[in-house]
Amino acid sequence: MADATYPEVSLFIDGAWTQASGGKHLTVLNPATSEALGTVAHAGKADLDRALEAAQKGFEAWRKVSAFERAKVLKRAATLMRERADSIAPLMTMEQGKPVAEAKGELLVGADVMEWFGEEARRAYGRVIPARADGVYQLVIKEPVGPVAAFTPWNFPVNQAVRKVSAAVAAGCSIILKGPEETPASCAELVRVYADAGVPAGVVQLVYGIPSEISEYLIPHPIIRKISFTGSTAVGKQLAALAGLHMKRVTMELGGHAPALVFEDADIDAAAKILAANKFRNAGQVCVAPTRFLVQESVYEKFVERFVTIAKNIKVGSGLEAGTTMGPLANARRVTAMEGFIADAVQKGAAVRTGGKRIGNKGNFFEPTVLTEVTTQMRAMNEEPFGPLALVAAFKKTEDALAEANRLPYGLAAYAYTRSAATANKVATAVESGMMSINHHGLALPEVPFGGVKDSGYGSEGGLEAMEAYLNTKFVTQASA
Ligand code: NAD
Repeated sequence: MADATYPEVSLFIDGAWTQASGGKHLTVLNPATSEALGTVAHAGKADLDRALEAAQKGFEAWRKVSAFERAKVLKRAATLMRERADSIAPLMTMEQGKPVAEAKGELLVGADVMEWFGEEARRAYGRVIPARADGVYQLVIKEPVGPVAAFTPWNFPVNQAVRKVSAAVAAGCSIILKGPEETPASCAELVRVYADAGVPAGVVQLVYGIPSEISEYLIPHPIIRKISFTGSTAVGKQLAALAGLHMKRVTMELGGHAPALVFEDADIDAAAKILAANKFRNAGQVCVAPTRFLVQESVYEKFVERFVTIAKNIKVGSGLEAGTTMGPLANARRVTAMEGFIADAVQKGAAVRTGGKRIGNKGNFFEPTVLTEVTTQMRAMNEEPFGPLALVAAFKKTEDALAEANRLPYGLAAYAYTRSAATANKVATAVESGMMSINHHGLALPEVPFGGVKDSGYGSEGGLEAMEAYLNTKFVTQASA
């Protein structure tokens, strides 16, 4: 596994792997050593023009391919992805840090996503509306929206991209994907899977470069008809504003600050176990990671004790080493951010129950951290930590927990643990979030909606809604001549 060699990552334009036209490239760092790992081609304007031209040509051809055939190609892609998961996983670990088992899991879910959108391609139904006049047919037709520009981040190099590309391909669109420059190789392997499965030249383009240069060029471009972005709320707002100016359709999957409400009647052991697993998965760099743990007073200490025990048993190390359950943070910025959040919280009275520090001085390793006695004055309680940081606070009444859950402008995921159906119903209705998972972790399957409300964005990256985002609705009314 450790022998996997890291490639020089190229652009993929019009069915061919190519270096950037100016020969420029960016360095990719290994998050476990802080040393250079490889390079990725840095696209300039000429490359983007070629990608746009290819995407236009690709769209014109692909939209005419039947949904039946598009489905077959995506099914083949899913099979290839499953066959290649063992060889791609170490590459993802080398560039992103996550343990190989997590990387492989991400790739296998990616295969499920391809398969599901392939199946769904055949069910992009329109409808017939009964007409008021005899001999009139009123048809609602679904058409692919056109060439898409998609921007995906480094936390799930494959999973963030596979949802956008598969939905676009299934719907009959073409796409220019700006992949994550910090974790480019596994995303490039994803694109290779589509190509090898028979997605024709021009349908999927992959570019890397300076994110702002690429988005500022692609979003206003007349060839591009739809924008999809996953990343921070701050950047999402800028891109949505630009898209709005040019009347482009948009899907925005942005940051979160998920509340996890644990009521006194919950199975506390199960709550601590499931929530801890999902807090520290991918070193906490997950938009739906539980972050504000709101625990009812009478079970607060019990929950904290169980949760801290699990956090202490996490084995932090290189994701390539057997037995590692949490790898390094994906980039050095996250270590600085964690240190800042924790120093601020401690200075304002938080108690460090475990963790709190960087590990070593090589690589971006950080201790799984649990803070209690947290208050809403602390930065971490307001900004997305996006790292291995759990913030635990006690609440008395359900209303107090609901008020805290809804206090922030974020509204992506939320969690609740309770044995009371009445409490579960109340929480499911009252919490302002795009997703709510009660008594288990059940988010992010291909067949279910995935998206947020408020500052967490709009649109969905799963379920029927995700296909709909790549389709236009056309109304045709026809009378007999
Ligand atoms: P960032 O805000 O600089 O970038 C976030 C993502 O947006 C990156 O993938 C980046 O390449 C891209 N990006 C930045 N500016 C862009 C632009 N002008 N045009 C197009 N793409 C652009 O932050 P970061 O340091 O990379 O990540 C930190 C924060 O980003 C986290 O705290 C988290 O809130 C958020 N984030 C969210 C997700 C998610 O899954 N929703 C994933 C990664 C990062």
